[in-house]
Amino acid sequence: MNNELTIYNSLSRKPELFESKTEGYVGMYVCGPTVYSDVHLGNCRTFVSFDIIYRYLMYLGYKVRYVRNITDVGHLTGDSDDGEDKISKKAKLENLEPMEVAQNYSNGFHQMMEVFETLPPSIEPRATGHIIEQIEMVEKIIENGFAYESNGSVYFDTLKFDEACRAGKVGENVFYGQLSGRILDDLLAESRDLKKQNEKNHPSDFAIWMKADESHLMRWNSPWSVGFPGWHLECSAMSTKYLGEGFDIHGGGTDLKFPHHENEIAQNLGSCGCSPAKYWLHANMLLMNGKKMSKSDGNTISPQELFTGESPHVTQGYDPMVVKFFMLQSHYRSTLDLTDLALQAADKGYKRLMEANRILQAISIPEGEANDKSAEIKQLMESAVADMNDDFNTPKALSRLFELVPIINSYQNKLDGYDKLDATTLTELKKFFANFLFDIFGLKDAMGSDSNGVGKSMDGLMELVIDLRQSARENKDWATSDKIRDTLQALDIQLKDGKEGTSWSLN
Ligand code: AMP
Ligand code: ZN
Repeated sequence: MNNELTIYNSLSRKPELFESKTEGYVGMYVCGPTVYSDVHLGNCRTFVSFDIIYRYLMYLGYKVRYVRNITDVGHLTGDSDDGEDKISKKAKLENLEPMEVAQNYSNGFHQMMEVFETLPPSIEPRATGHIIEQIEMVEKIIENGFAYESNGSVYFDTLKFDEACRAGKVGENVFYGQLSGRILDDLLAESRDLKKQNEKNHPSDFAIWMKADESHLMRWNSPWSVGFPGWHLECSAMSTKYLGEGFDIHGGGTDLKFPHHENEIAQNLGSCGCSPAKYWLHANMLLMNGKKMSKSDGNTISPQELFTGESPHVTQGYDPMVVKFFMLQSHYRSTLDLTDLALQAADKGYKRLMEANRILQAISIPEGEANDKSAEIKQLMESAVADMNDDFNTPKALSRLFELVPIINSYQNKLDGYDKLDATTLTELKKFFANFLFDIFGLKDAMGSDSNGVGKSMDGLMELVIDLRQSARENKDWATSDKIRDTLQALDIQLKDGKEGTSWSLN
């Protein structure tokens, strides 16, 4: 197992050597979408970032259990305890069942994830499917003295929790506000005038169960009231259920650090005395033209508008793979600024790498001794792996691939010194390119008809073979035309003669 991987841990605020809890296995939980509206490009960036992380961990040989939830209850407008449930609100507006809303936007989300060639997670649990687990967790937190009931709702007691942490009664070196860096005194001041405050002991306490009146569309029985779970609770309950009380990686966008992740940590510590994850990873936000993407001031573009070019913000449509390539050109912890100019550059870069891969996969050159060129190629391949081991640095790894492009072109053109290459290096280079482009980055060659980029060459080759067979038949050269048909048959390629000419297919 490769143990060179370093991950920047948001909890300790420093890079740390990655050591999984169980040798060879990784448990990773990522906060999924709240399915009350179409997935936006910012969400896509975060999920693409974690898809690359998932893929790279598998590339290193880990067996990964990747859990990414669907939030279909509990997430209130304004991320607070007083807002309206986002899904219920949409259901009322459109006169639909809340589950119709959730299903509709989950379907759209899945389609978009496929368009971006991301792999489905191993488990995709829904908050509404885990109400029992959430009630059980509330019971444990109350039992441990870190939550109290008030008017049918249950609140997490942040002051009591913080005091217990500082007295060393909860775990080592833990306190409320550790992840987000927010001090409890500031939190108390910030949250003074919210509506629900009179039910809370302290303004910074947060709801883990909320009593709901009859106007609420999604409600369940509980020991405290008919109501619904608080937003943060679902992730604590579902990550524990599928990954255990302490697992390896927890991810999400930076906007989730507070209150969502801070409160998740408090709930896990408050129920079982253990922090949910060892490594916390946060993907940074997507901007457009240097500003936060925002619907209210028109500084926004949907994925579809970006693909078709039907937006004043772009001069042309961009293939989803170009958009993904553009995302890969920045580190997941940096903000990413979407501009038409940057997308045009990504378009060129993506095509250049795909073209280089097609050339490389078709290259056959005489075998030579390993030499300084072999060493240079090997060095670049090793550097790309080292870049990915350095907190998944995709832009740096991509730059190594770009450095390999002129070398590949020199071999294709058999320039001076590039007319021979040892077979091991050539085979490794071919494998390396395909691994990085398709397995790790999850790109697809939009020009070729299959993922390893040989589709277009194969089409051209078959056109030539069919033409040669046609000429042989016209010249009554049956020996040649039979030879072509038999050889293709042995290769499981079938020819079909029809009115429109001859077509081919793989058996
Ligand atoms: P939500 O559906 O709002 O719960 O968000 C789903 C995921 O997308 C979360 O991990 C968010 O942190 C992330 N996210 C939301 N907005 C952005 C953005 N502008 N850029 C990047 N990630 C985002
Ligand atoms: Zn979450």
